[in-house]
Amino acid sequence: MNKLLVFLFLITGLSYGQNFQVHSHNDYAQDVPFWKAFSAGCASIESDLILQNGKLMVAHNVPDIKAVNTFENLYLKPLQVIMNSEQYEAFDLQILIDFKTAAEPTLKVLMAQLEKYPELINGKNAAKKVSFVISGKRPEAEQYENYPSYINFDHQTVDTWPTNMDKVALVSLPFYKYTPWNGKGRLTSGDEAKLKTVIDQIHAKGKKVRFWATPDSKTAWYTLSKLGIDFINTDEPFACNAYLATLSERLVPRVEKDEATFKMPAAKFQQAAVILMVGDGTGLAQISAGILSQKTPLNLARIKSIGLIKTEAADDFTTDSAAGGTALATGKKTNNRYIGLDAEGKELLTIFDAAEAANYSTGIVTTDGIAGATPSAFYAHAADRDSSKKIGDYLLKSQMDIFIAGGGKAFKNTKWENRKIVSSISEIGTTSDAKVGFFAADGGLPYITEGRGNYLPKATMEALNFLEKKNKPFTLLIENGHIDGSGHANKAKALAAEVRDFDKAIGLVMQYVDSHPETLLIITADHETGGVTLPHGTKDEMEVQFHSDDHTGILVPLFAYGKGAEKLQGIYDNTEVYQRMVEFINAHK
Ligand SMILES: [Zn+2]
Repeated sequence: MNKLLVFLFLITGLSYGQNFQVHSHNDYAQDVPFWKAFSAGCASIESDLILQNGKLMVAHNVPDIKAVNTFENLYLKPLQVIMNSEQYEAFDLQILIDFKTAAEPTLKVLMAQLEKYPELINGKNAAKKVSFVISGKRPEAEQYENYPSYINFDHQTVDTWPTNMDKVALVSLPFYKYTPWNGKGRLTSGDEAKLKTVIDQIHAKGKKVRFWATPDSKTAWYTLSKLGIDFINTDEPFACNAYLATLSERLVPRVEKDEATFKMPAAKFQQAAVILMVGDGTGLAQISAGILSQKTPLNLARIKSIGLIKTEAADDFTTDSAAGGTALATGKKTNNRYIGLDAEGKELLTIFDAAEAANYSTGIVTTDGIAGATPSAFYAHAADRDSSKKIGDYLLKSQMDIFIAGGGKAFKNTKWENRKIVSSISEIGTTSDAKVGFFAADGGLPYITEGRGNYLPKATMEALNFLEKKNKPFTLLIENGHIDGSGHANKAKALAAEVRDFDKAIGLVMQYVDSHPETLLIITADHETGGVTLPHGTKDEMEVQFHSDDHTGILVPLFAYGKGAEKLQGIYDNTEVYQRMVEFINAHK
C-alpha cells in the first residue's frame, strides 16, 4: 500500500460513520475527491456534472474537463467500494449533483448509469445509505415526481413549492441574498433575523437547509451551526468536521455562582504568613474562562495588585512544572524535569528551607500527588521529576508541618518517623501531633467535573486552621494541578470548573488575609497549558478553544493580596516571586 492509501485507510477507519452534516462544496476540486470528504465525515458531497458526447464528466466548465474525471470514476466506483466493503459499517451520504447541462438529457444518462450500480439505489442496506440529489439545472418542480425513487431534488426557492414535497431532499439558497457577512466578527442582528426567518420557513416544511457561497472559517462554522443550518458548506472538509464534531465539548456554560461556600472561623491568633497559590497551567485565558463562566464575580477579581510573569526554563523556551515549580520555590531558573536543582545539578535551598530557618511552619495542599512536580520542588531535589523513590525519601525527611494531597499509594507501607498520617481530613483539626499528612487519594484526585467535590477549599481551610493553631508564622503552598490537566486534555468544561474551584479556595484565603493583616497572598501559575482562547460565546455559554495540548511560553498573571502586595506589580521573571517571599519572611520573623 502506498502512503496515501495507508493514510486514508487509517483515518477512514476512525471517522466513517460520524455524520456532522458537513457539505463538501465542489468536492471534485479537492486533491483527493470523494475519499477526503468521506473520511473527514462529510454527510454531503457535491459534484458538478457536464454531459459531453453521451458521457457524464465532472467539471465546472467544459474547458476544465479531463478524460479520466468521469462521474463513474470519481464517485460511483468509490461509492461501490464503501457499499460492498465490511470496513465501512454505516453511513448516510448525500451526493449533490450540480447539473451544468440541460436537466432531461443529463438525467437520462445519469439514471442509465446508476442502474448499473443497483446496490447504490435499491436501498437494501439499511445501515449504508446513499442518496442522489439533483441540483443546478433541474426539471420543473412539477416534473420531480416523474423520476424514480432514487432521484431527488435540491429545491432552490422558498417562494414556490412543488405539490409533491416528497421529492425535495433539501433546500439550498445563496447566502449573499441574505447577508454580505464575511465570516469575521458576527452577523448584524438584522441579517441574523433574515436568515432565521428563512431557515424556520424551510424547517416548517420538514426540509433540511443549505446555503452556498458561505464564509469558510471557524467563526462561520460556529455561527452557521448555531443558526440551525443543516448542511454546512465548506471547502475544508477536515477542518470543518473536526471543528464541529468537537464543538459541544468546548462549549462551557456560564453559570451562577456554585453553592457550598465555606467561611473561615474568626481569627484566633495573629502571625505573619506568606501563602503561595499555584494554579498549575493557569494563563490569562484560563483566568478569563473562570471569570467569564460565572455570572457573579470571582473572589480573585477583587485583587488590585496584578503582575505578569515570564516562565521560560533555563534550557527551554517552554517550561515544564518541574523547572517552573523550582523557579517559584528556589528563585533559580533550571532545566526542564529538574526538581530543586540548579541548571548544573546542584541542590538549591527552597523557600521552605528559608521559612524553617526563620522559625516558620510550612505546608502543602494540592489536588496533585504529593510527589507531583510542583509540590516536590518545595521539598525535594532530583534531576528527574519522575524519580518518585528519591522524591519520596525527601518527603520522609521533610520538616514541613502539614501536607494534604493525592498519591498515597506510593507511601502505603511507609513508616513515618516524625509525622502522623491521618485517615480522614477532619482528623487534622483534632490531632495533637505536631506534623501531619493526609492522602486524599491513592493516585490522582478526580476532576471537579468528575466528583472531587469541595476537597480543595476544605483542605485549604483545614491547613490554615492547623497552621494558625501553632501560633507562629507560616508558609503554605496551595496548588490546583487540575487546571493544567484540563489544558493537556483539552477539556473545556473541566477547565472553567477547575478555575472556579480554585477561586473558592482563593476566597477562603482572602478571608484569612482580611483577618490576619500580616499575611501576603500570591496567586500565580508555573506556566500556561493548552494555548487557550475564548473566541465565541453568548450570554449563556462560551467556546473555549485549545491551540495546543501542552504548555506554552505565554506570560502568566500573578495576583497579590495583603501585606506588601504592591511589590508584586509589573512584568518580571518567575524567580522574583521567590525573592519577594524571602524578603517577606526576613522582614516578618
Ligand atoms: Zn503540565
